[in-house]
Amino acid sequence: MVWCNYTSMKHIFGPVNSRRLGRSLGIDLLPKKICNFDCIYCEVGATTLHTCERREYVPTEDILAEIEQYCADPARLGQVDVVTVTASGEPTLHAGLGRIIRFLKERTGKPVAVLTNGTNLTRPDVVEELCQADIVIPSLDSALQESFRRLNRPAPCVDLGETIEGLVSFSHAFAGELWLEILVAKNVNDSREDIAALLRVIARMRLTRVQLNTVARPPLEKFALPVSQERLQEIAALIAAVPGVPRVDIIAHGISIFAQGEGDVAAEAAPLRQDRVDILEQIVQMLQRRPCTAADIDRIFLLGGPARIEQLLEPLVQSGRIVKRLHRDRMFYQYCGDQGSRSQKNIEKENV
Ligand code: SF4
Repeated sequence: MVWCNYTSMKHIFGPVNSRRLGRSLGIDLLPKKICNFDCIYCEVGATTLHTCERREYVPTEDILAEIEQYCADPARLGQVDVVTVTASGEPTLHAGLGRIIRFLKERTGKPVAVLTNGTNLTRPDVVEELCQADIVIPSLDSALQESFRRLNRPAPCVDLGETIEGLVSFSHAFAGELWLEILVAKNVNDSREDIAALLRVIARMRLTRVQLNTVARPPLEKFALPVSQERLQEIAALIAAVPGVPRVDIIAHGISIFAQGEGDVAAEAAPLRQDRVDILEQIVQMLQRRPCTAADIDRIFLLGGPARIEQLLEPLVQSGRIVKRLHRDRMFYQYCGDQGSRSQKNIEKENV
């Protein structure tokens, strides 16, 4: 059996076992970080290219070659339930999206899910491409201008009214599953007016489910705060009462995303036969996309407990490649860049 050389993979990560999607193999289309938003809660980091321009930021051929390499091992592919197209930014900005979805469908034979901030559903070419997917998970955090601007900090080329109309129209055109994700941040988009405006949009959409989230991991901005579990439950009840909404999931409650058994949990990936360097690289790749605690990492890589993970990661912390960051009483590991662009000392100052 030939195991993939993960250290050479730039665009494929996982599979991680997601309660929402099953064993999900991630395809990352963009380098960090190209987006038409700069959300205050973003887990990837600050937007470095704030743009609406669709381009082949990474050669499509490079991504297809990695997919081909992964698919060359049928046993490995057999562990995957769904392929999830995402990005260190907004994946619909990659002009090769349609070709990549088509290739994934043909080559893997697995359902394809796409995560998006929903802004490009105003574009007929993006709509046509996304219609090839099986599951589309767009987000809409606010339907009011002020909170939308404060929370998502869109590029000037993004228009909220057009985005909402694009979402509503796509929801009726798309034949697959449409899961709307809403992130609620304290004192930003959690007011009665905000929720009422969102409910009016939801009432116009054809949805498979709504997923409610809050600021559960270290956010880009320290002032991005979670709402309480009680408030999330109140909002979930209001959404569930909208006619035509079949299901509402609370996928985080601000303190412990894993404690309630939601979110990404243990995976069967990362077999222990792989060498230590390869596994460390996989961990780093995962941290490039989202900060994780030692317990989160252990659930995915099954390396003998959080203390063992801490021990394994210490050299990477010392080298400045990753940093430790305290968020709401939980210590997260966060990718810092190969040059160690933010020193542990600076992060420790933030933690105080
Ligand atoms: S959370 Fe998503 S949409 Fe928002 S800035 Fe980060 S990558 Fe872009």
